[in-house]
Amino acid sequence: MGCQEFLTHIKRGAFLPGGPLAYHGVMPNTKAYAALTAKGPLVPYRITRQPPDPDEIEIEILYCGICHSDLHSIQDDWESTLFPCVPGHEIIGRISRLGAGVDRFREGEIVGVGCIIGSCGACPSCEEALEQYCDQGFLGTFNSPLNETAHTLGGFSERIVVPAKYALLVHHSRDQLAGAAPLLCAGITVYSPLRLWGAGPGKKVGIVGLGGLGHLAVKFASAMGAHVVLFSSSEAKLSDALNLGAHEACLSTDKKAMFRYSGALDMVLNTVSASHNLDTYLRLLKRDGTQILVGAPAEPHASPKVFNLLFRRRRIAGSLIGSIRETQDMLEFSAAHQITADIELISISDVNAAFERLDRNDVRYRFVIDMESLRQNDSD
Ligand code: NAP
Ligand code: ZN
Repeated sequence: MGCQEFLTHIKRGAFLPGGPLAYHGVMPNTKAYAALTAKGPLVPYRITRQPPDPDEIEIEILYCGICHSDLHSIQDDWESTLFPCVPGHEIIGRISRLGAGVDRFREGEIVGVGCIIGSCGACPSCEEALEQYCDQGFLGTFNSPLNETAHTLGGFSERIVVPAKYALLVHHSRDQLAGAAPLLCAGITVYSPLRLWGAGPGKKVGIVGLGGLGHLAVKFASAMGAHVVLFSSSEAKLSDALNLGAHEACLSTDKKAMFRYSGALDMVLNTVSASHNLDTYLRLLKRDGTQILVGAPAEPHASPKVFNLLFRRRRIAGSLIGSIRETQDMLEFSAAHQITADIELISISDVNAAFERLDRNDVRYRFVIDMESLRQNDSD
């Protein structure tokens, strides 16, 4: 499909995972939770899910993780949220219906859906299977415009319909599925840069922030064979970091302790969700070392001191989630290494309390919603 065709495809609603209004005569048929205004609470909300097109599958959602990007979105931190907003992009579910042309999956199979459910397929990034960098912008699982009045609605819902090529096979065992949900965003967002920048034996990797992304980064980097140093602003998390697989853990506000790592690290993966001083971590890099930013704070970071870049030829880079191919690779790697997120499984009725706790950095280390609680919820 060419770029132009892709846009037309979107406009005629081919990707429509549903909306507040009826599409093609289908009335709202799916329970969901939505934020109706910025900073408002999430409330029960009915949306429309279309029957799958020939290239699509319908998924009954079993679990959905709560990412800090969901929080940024419902707070409209990035000033780009389309309301009503049904968040959720860390989805694990069971295939409930197959489009007529889908032969890659079977009904009943367990699959995952992350942040991406469409891309143009024709630009250089798509041709290199890097859909997250699609020149047209990838179609997000939630909060992507479809036409003048509709946008995609995410995983805080009973079911979702997506093109089969954006669904991922999940090989984790039944009892690991809730913990596997956060792999679909948090997992791939850290796995992709760790792989690209060569985390592995002989490399010293710093991970900054022990949250949803950070705790998975510790698990992945240590499974890849790197020497892992975790930097946290929360003293109480340091012992957790060691239990999760970090070789060392350092309180980032302790200047003396931080000084010990000056010029010692090959790479730093920075997952912090708030703006802060990037020089703190640039100083820790060896010559040609890179600090990769994956956190996406509402307020910009102050510009780092140029001498921290010039001396030792250090770099700062960014990285956006990961491609579908990399995500499948990450799922195989995590199944083989028994990697899942450490989670608190919650009911949908506790979703607002969970967002409040995420906002005050009180989660170890990911909230995941048991979507059965939405099916059983009769508050709407
Ligand atoms: P999270 O679970 O809330 O973790 C963020 C961590 O940042 C916290 O656990 C905390 O770690 C640290 N932190 C928070 N506020 C801080 C402050 N004021 N000063 C210093 N440290 C602070 O969030 P998450 O779900 O892992 O997401 C992290 C960020 O990545 C968010 O901005 C999210 O939007 C972004 N994200 C980006 C991508 C991408 O494609 N690049 C994908 C997903 C998410 P300590 O307590 O250990 O210091
Ligand atoms: Zn996310």
